Amino acid sequence: MSGYPTGPQSRAKVDANVPGSETQLLAAIRDALLATGRCLIFRNNTGKLQDARGRWVTFGLGVGSPDLIGILRACRGKCTTPVMDLAVGGSCDHAGRFLAVEVKLPGKHLEVAQACWHKAARESGALVIVAHSVAEALAGLEGA
Ligand SMILES: [Mg+2]
Ligand SMILES: [Zn+2]
Repeated sequence: MSGYPTGPQSRAKVDANVPGSETQLLAAIRDALLATGRCLIFRNNTGKLQDARGRWVTFGLGVGSPDLIGILRACRGKCTTPVMDLAVGGSCDHAGRFLAVEVKLPGKHLEVAQACWHKAARESGALVIVAHSVAEALAGLEGA
């Protein structure tokens, strides 16, 4: 969805052309979720790299954090929850909810650290989706 920030994508644009790769699936899921207009989506690359001086720099939201993170937007009358007239221009119960999407190739399962991250996020009210396909990602958003 143009007009909304989606984070760095330079590497994803290259790897997204590799058929069957997790990066290609991730890009397809990101685009499909954005196309619903229901959420903002950001790539959450995680890891540790050395800078030019050899110092280790960690990046991303830490071990077990999801491939994509986002924020659900107000449904603009498309859901049945009460709509509040907030200063930001109207909102519903979905608006502002944290969204986490872990992308997995078919047959792949969550790592222990990912399951722990998901449990903590869900207990805090986040919508956490594990998606092996675009359809699974969209179904997860639909069920919110
Ligand atoms: Mg993944
Ligand atoms: Zn709503």
